[in-house]
Amino acid sequence: MKTTYDAIIIGGGIVGMATAFNLAKMNFGNIVVLEKEMFVGAGATSKAAGGIRAQFSSQVNIEVSMKSIEIFENFEAITGEPALFDQVGYMFVLTEESTLDPYLKAAELQKSLGMDVQILGPEDVKKIAPPVRVNDVIKATYHARDGLGDPHEFTQGYFRACRKMNVEVLTECPVTGITAAGGKVTGVTTPQGDFSAPLIINAAGPQAGLIGKMAEIDIPVQPFRRQIVTTGEVDFIPATMPMVVDVSSGLYCHKESKGLLMGWADPDVKAAFDESQDPDYNDNILMKALDRIPQLETAEVANSWAGLYETTPDHHAIIGFDDKIAGFFTIAGFSGHGFMHAPGAGLVAAEMITGRDLSIDLDRLAPNRFVGGAIEDEINVI
Ligand SMILES: Cc1cc2nc3c(=O)[nH]c(=O)nc-3n(C[C@H](O)[C@H](O)[C@H](O)COP(=O)(O)OP(=O)(O)OC[C@H]3O[C@@H](n4cnc5c(N)ncnc54)[C@H](O)[C@@H]3O)c2cc1C
Repeated sequence: MKTTYDAIIIGGGIVGMATAFNLAKMNFGNIVVLEKEMFVGAGATSKAAGGIRAQFSSQVNIEVSMKSIEIFENFEAITGEPALFDQVGYMFVLTEESTLDPYLKAAELQKSLGMDVQILGPEDVKKIAPPVRVNDVIKATYHARDGLGDPHEFTQGYFRACRKMNVEVLTECPVTGITAAGGKVTGVTTPQGDFSAPLIINAAGPQAGLIGKMAEIDIPVQPFRRQIVTTGEVDFIPATMPMVVDVSSGLYCHKESKGLLMGWADPDVKAAFDESQDPDYNDNILMKALDRIPQLETAEVANSWAGLYETTPDHHAIIGFDDKIAGFFTIAGFSGHGFMHAPGAGLVAAEMITGRDLSIDLDRLAPNRFVGGAIEDEINVI
């Protein structure tokens, strides 16, 4: 077995696979992805709701999203692998005066960056998303180019494209240590043996902070449990139904198979590697969902699961080289938006690593930003 590479990527989720794909496309050299689970995409990626959107409040998140949407739209042409991006749009429904200002301000920024985001009144909300109760809706923001994708399908697409370009992917291979000498990384240790490379890429999702500790680097990524509930078949959700976010209650929902998928970030959840399901969660979310979509009264719960968001203090990803130890690169901390941001982030990370001009200025996401004091938060986190 080969043990020396040009790059070792820790983590075979959508972010690690997108980074590997882009590096391989840029002919970076010998790349290996080390994944602790039995399959790629078995971590947070397997729990994602599949939402893809560019409606964010910070410029860098909007730009990473827009680049990603461009890639999702052209995925087969870029990777040679088919995967469906169902552009049904995203709608943020605003029912309280206090939420209008931040969302309308964000929409202005989105428009200034080239997005065709629309501000809707209740009648248009009803036209686009008929099951939504609108009698208390003041406005909504809507972007038709947003939509839904299957995280498994896109991760497998990147995986297959990587394999065609001779990227090695070793599963059941947990990284247990990082080796360094003279202020530079030299490799990693695993139960399958030691691997050496002058570049280690930390794409370990919710575990990115633990990988940082192995290199004695503080990477402020914390795991927060997030849950999802799906219903069985219902007959009132049209195929064109967008992702709907009820900003005041925090509920988000979209069509899933012939039913509805629902999520909500419980603010009482504390940081922990806990993927158990809170028994009260289903009742809580069904109350919120019934309030916004009364026809759900007839629906039955089909499935539910829990996974981990990989959250940073400012809800922005961390992308870049560490400035204390040479050759250690982090691409993690997407704070619940790693599926939708992986294509653009993986591209720009590879540009950064290979010294190319960057498609997007990622200074705002630099790993050392947290030492400098106040940083602007992303408000549009669900
Ligand atoms: C309930 C839920 C809903 C979500 N919905 C959305 C959504 O709609 N849209 C969206 O964009 N995002 C969503 N997300 C967030 C999204 O899932 C993540 O941001 C994204 O999957 C992160 O990808 P990743 O590759 O960084 O992490 P992961 O998929 O977790 O990949 C990291 C990989 O690293 C591996 N690993 C960790 N430690 C080691 C080690 N020591 N050695 C080797 N391998 C290691 C893990 O096994 C894992 O496979 C959701 C998340 C949850 C939990």
